[in-house]
Amino acid sequence: MTYKTKQRELMLAFFESHHHDSFSVEQLYEQLKGEGISLSSIYRNLNELEKDGSVHKVVPQGAREAYYQFVGCEHCRGHIHVQCIECGKTVHLPDQATSEIAKQTKDSLGFELDPTSTVFYGLCKECSAHHSR
Ligand SMILES: [Zn+2]
Ligand SMILES: [Zn+2]
Repeated sequence: MTYKTKQRELMLAFFESHHHDSFSVEQLYEQLKGEGISLSSIYRNLNELEKDGSVHKVVPQGAREAYYQFVGCEHCRGHIHVQCIECGKTVHLPDQATSEIAKQTKDSLGFELDPTSTVFYGLCKECSAHHSR
């Protein structure tokens, strides 16, 4: 394994074990510098992972930096993701709800939905609670 590939693997492993959370570049660096990963390779790898669809990049409203969340793990291929437009958090829709939606779309439109590349936007639980206060 080349040095470059190894860094990518380490980042992937980190993302995979924290796939419910999103991280800024700074936070990723804090977590991964112990593994010998430089800031520039974090930027480079994030770019690549974003391009191949393994991470979502979000900039929450009012935030100065972008956050990255992993959506490329094995189980993510079977469901739709919903993303909060306010805090940028990505939530994994349960597979069962996803198949419901896919089935409805197919039945009513004859349209074959691709859950992997489908993202719904809205407000997450925390943010909508904040709004109704
Ligand atoms: Zn997922
Ligand atoms: Zn939110």
